[in-house]
Amino acid sequence: MADSSFDLAVIGGGVAGLTAAALAARAGARVFLAEHHNVPGGCASFFQRDGYRFDVGATVVNGFGPRGIHRRVLESLGVTIAATPLEPTMLVHLPGMQIARYGDARWRDERIAAFGERFEPFWHAQERIADRVWDFAARLPTLPADLASAWHLARVFRPRDLALLQYQGQSIARLLPHDASPELRSFIDLQLLITAQAPASETDLALGAAALDIAREGTFHLAGGIATIATALARAIRRFGGTIAYRTDVARIRTDRRGFSGIELADGRTIAARHAVAAIPYENVLQLLGRAPSPSSRTGQRWSAVTAYVGLEAGDLPDDFPLHHQVLLDPRVPLGDANSLFISFSAPGERERARNGGRALTISTHADPLRWEQAYSAGRGSELQRAYAQQMLAGLERAAGKRIVPSFFELGTPRTFERYTLRYRGLVGGTPQRIESANLRARSHRSGIKGLTLCGDTIFPGQSTVGVTLSAINAVRPFGIDFSALSASASVGAGRPVSDSASALALRATIP
Ligand SMILES: Cc1cc2nc3c(=O)[nH]c(=O)nc-3n(C[C@H](O)[C@H](O)[C@H](O)COP(=O)(O)OP(=O)(O)OC[C@H]3O[C@@H](n4cnc5c(N)ncnc54)[C@H](O)[C@@H]3O)c2cc1C
Repeated sequence: MADSSFDLAVIGGGVAGLTAAALAARAGARVFLAEHHNVPGGCASFFQRDGYRFDVGATVVNGFGPRGIHRRVLESLGVTIAATPLEPTMLVHLPGMQIARYGDARWRDERIAAFGERFEPFWHAQERIADRVWDFAARLPTLPADLASAWHLARVFRPRDLALLQYQGQSIARLLPHDASPELRSFIDLQLLITAQAPASETDLALGAAALDIAREGTFHLAGGIATIATALARAIRRFGGTIAYRTDVARIRTDRRGFSGIELADGRTIAARHAVAAIPYENVLQLLGRAPSPSSRTGQRWSAVTAYVGLEAGDLPDDFPLHHQVLLDPRVPLGDANSLFISFSAPGERERARNGGRALTISTHADPLRWEQAYSAGRGSELQRAYAQQMLAGLERAAGKRIVPSFFELGTPRTFERYTLRYRGLVGGTPQRIESANLRARSHRSGIKGLTLCGDTIFPGQSTVGVTLSAINAVRPFGIDFSALSASASVGAGRPVSDSASALALRATIP
């Protein structure tokens, strides 16, 4: 028997689920959100240990620029977060060279100094295409195009967007000149690995151009780290009357011949709701529907991650040291698996993140899930952990340019991600932006089950807190919650529930 009745049940309290729930609650829906962990944020969450507060996975904050999607959503919820722009956005360390990834005009001089003037046509083309993608994305499109999304797409589409169609089916490598230097190729592949999860030869051209352009859209620092986004969204949900149940696992999505009918929790309760948003990876959705996930040939190599959480003492690093670093240890060895690393530091003086004026670091590397599964079944898990830990410290020392003796060190593996986020096989980072799986070929927010929509980083447009925020907006739109209308009428003051507002009435009208 159903315990309670809601307008909307949301499965998963990562940034996708929180955004969907907050927008629905803001529009007056009675919202129930179930989250496995005891804090919000999923892969963009935090944990505290030994006087440090670590970002668990995601560290780089975007989406707070003039057309930034986090800023727009949060403002529509009556929330303002102080976001400090970072320049350079990161430092990239290739063997024998360092490249500062600026988002402003200094980037042109930097790339010419690093790679030479002759590759300027490549960068110009990349920026021109990226501008088109950002322009389109700012209108919050729904893809892949289908009959049900036709009205929304028609509303946001402009004739100038047609130019983007010409890049379909091509990889960003096509833009690279044949005589591109090994350093330029390494740099591009490194950057794409963290933003598109695939190398240039496999990454969709338009999305690849945008993925190389994230610095120009702005990278920011938030006091408290990236999890500040999730905690702000969670607060907004509660402020608008929504319910968040932490330490609560959804065990099954129930359907009947009319479509979605409710969710069953692992503790035996049933939550009745008219609609549901599954904000968990697609493979997890299949499991909750009682179907077996199967590897999709469209998505190719999928990644998990290994993370190192490192505490440093005061004075270990200068105050003006950039907060984000990407390191390639050996250009002869494939990227990922502790040969390429991403390192992020808490800001100097962030007392809530590190004890005694120290720094909290998250180091991450892409990890082949199969390699870890095989190592564990062969009893070699600890050996592999040691090997990764050693490489990760070597990468940190490469970035810092000196020997580092951490005051705290803990490793997270694919199993850690599986345990804390329940993500199938510990796969993270979403669906890679390959030609076969991006844009028009991406997975839609429509589940095929009436009343159930999908969002998160395995759904269009894919990974990152920014990407999953668009997916969440798309996931609630079919239920009558149109973010563009919400943001245009965001005059409701912070802290005031809106259950009696016009948008709530619109919602109730469309949720019969
Ligand atoms: C190491 C790493 C580094 C990254 N770096 C960046 C970065 O710098 N910048 C960036 O923008 N992005 C980054 N990303 C990607 C970004 O973190 C994700 O794409 C995004 O946060 C995913 O959000 P989500 O809500 O789709 O999924 P998740 O964050 O995975 O959230 C899903 C939530 O659902 C919960 N859940 C799952 N199953 C159930 C269930 N049955 N019942 C109840 N709850 C359930 C989980 O506990 C989890 O909280 C990184 C990711 C990783 C792993």
